Amino acid sequence: MSKSKVTIGQVFKTIIWLRKKLLFIGLILIFISRGAGLVAPWATKPFMDDILVKKDLDKLPMLLTLVMVAISVQAVTSFLLTKLLSVEAQHLISVLRSKVQKHLLRLPTRFFDNQKSGALVSRVMNDVEGVRNLVGTGLVQLIGGILTAVISVGFLVYISPWMTLFVLLPMSIFGVITLKAFSIIRPVFRERGKITADVTGRLTETLNGIRVIKGFNAEPQEIKVFEDGVEKLFLNVKKSLTSTSIVTSSGAFLVGLASVGIMGLSGYFDLTAGAFLQFTMFMVFMIAPIVQMSNIGSQLTEAFAGLDRTEELMNTPVEDDISVRTIKIGAVSGDIVYENVSFAYEEGKNVLNEVSFKAPAGSVTALVGTSGSGKTTIAGLAASFLNPISGTITVDGVDMSKVSLDSYRSQLGVVLQDDFLFEGTIRENILFPRPKATEAELTQAVKAAYVDEFTSRFELGLDTVIGERGVKLSGGQRQRIAIARAILANPRVLILDEATSNLDTESESYIQESLKSLMHGRTTFVIAHRLSTIRQADQILVVENGQIAERGKHEELINKKGRYFELYTYQARI
Ligand code: ADP
Repeated sequence: MSKSKVTIGQVFKTIIWLRKKLLFIGLILIFISRGAGLVAPWATKPFMDDILVKKDLDKLPMLLTLVMVAISVQAVTSFLLTKLLSVEAQHLISVLRSKVQKHLLRLPTRFFDNQKSGALVSRVMNDVEGVRNLVGTGLVQLIGGILTAVISVGFLVYISPWMTLFVLLPMSIFGVITLKAFSIIRPVFRERGKITADVTGRLTETLNGIRVIKGFNAEPQEIKVFEDGVEKLFLNVKKSLTSTSIVTSSGAFLVGLASVGIMGLSGYFDLTAGAFLQFTMFMVFMIAPIVQMSNIGSQLTEAFAGLDRTEELMNTPVEDDISVRTIKIGAVSGDIVYENVSFAYEEGKNVLNEVSFKAPAGSVTALVGTSGSGKTTIAGLAASFLNPISGTITVDGVDMSKVSLDSYRSQLGVVLQDDFLFEGTIRENILFPRPKATEAELTQAVKAAYVDEFTSRFELGLDTVIGERGVKLSGGQRQRIAIARAILANPRVLILDEATSNLDTESESYIQESLKSLMHGRTTFVIAHRLSTIRQADQILVVENGQIAERGKHEELINKKGRYFELYTYQARI
């Protein structure tokens, strides 16, 4: 993935401008709120000079009412502001999450080969969180802060231009420090997203592979890796905390310095006690938002860092390139032809070389060969998960690389080794490719795959909830659910990766029977391990080093006494 850097302009166009109405209301509210907030500091002068010094008590009720009204207005507007913008910010987060997830699902399977699923989870869930600060109160507070500061400066100048100069000098130094600090922090935040993703990713893997970890007594190793990860995260947070605390404390220090300066200078300027107090109050009102702005600044920086990473993901090209995949094919009969197909996962390292064969509609093609010979790759090409680097694959005579994936995949079914079952009931798992299938269709699939053979023994039958990754079911039972699912989907083209795991003879015969019903009448590519499947196949392709070494039917190949014969004789299972 290339490194992306999101610019303020892009964010403005794609996020902020779209919500201009809301942000405008937010701004009006913040103007009112901040304006009302300035009444109290302004009131200090009349209070001090007229009421305390001159004892002009008639003014007191009016002044108190004014301050009370101002405080109430401030409270109401702040409430509305937070409610309005925070809700919108959360809404934006959910919209963005969905957008990222949608894009993620459209990426090619190859993308996922190189990514940890947990890290991607973090991408979708955490990286977009930061935008909360862009649309939420962060941005509006920033503008409000600037506004308060500017108005306060106006008052300061009005009260005493010279004294204002002494205040502004340390504040400009602070401004420079803050800007510098942010340029340091952004990459730190960016790095944080990556570390979080790595740590989450590893943790997910650890939990998924808990049996292997326990089996190899590798817990200490995993604990160490995780500890190192969280330590790295801690160091990263520490780094950003140092920068932000430099900003905050230098802010406080400079405020103190300005106050001392003002006190020192007070004697030289001809100000009433009230005017002096008013000046000090406005000074605080000018400085406070500036210091606060530095916090908001770091939130915005975090938001940008998250968006950078989101953008990276969104820039990764999707598999269904509509400018190339222009042909929408209707119902296919499933004639698949490979013509001089070569494929490489890494440039220059072909794993398939000039593979050619025909898989007529409704036929079963068994792919056999040693591990790593290229069987899965051939099947992956038929599933359109991969694209040939040269040569063509056609379906019903149409070049598959030009066919829209939707239109092809809706006619495709896959049953993979150790097939994936979702958390939920057996019924939900079978219905998942066709949630709207009728009860009769469901029953037919359940029967054809011999799923009822074991669900009838369960109290809740098909409504039995299976554990995460189906751990409560035996391997054979999981396979049968996967087969029932594929039967229900009723695909024209079927990719089957037979489980290698040893099943007891009873399960084995159920699976054989259900596979028979599944393959019937569909163009099937099966990475075959069972002799029964191989014997039934219309053609067997013996794959070796990315080429088809032999082809034919079982008896023919046995009689030929070639590579297949060797495989068959020397290995109990192929
Ligand atoms: P089989 O299914 O016969 O065991 P595969 O088609 O999985 O073989 O693999 C063929 C070759 O391609 C092997 O050398 C394997 O290491 C390589 N290969 C498979 N998947 C990938 C991948 N995602 N990235 C790089 N190389 C791969």
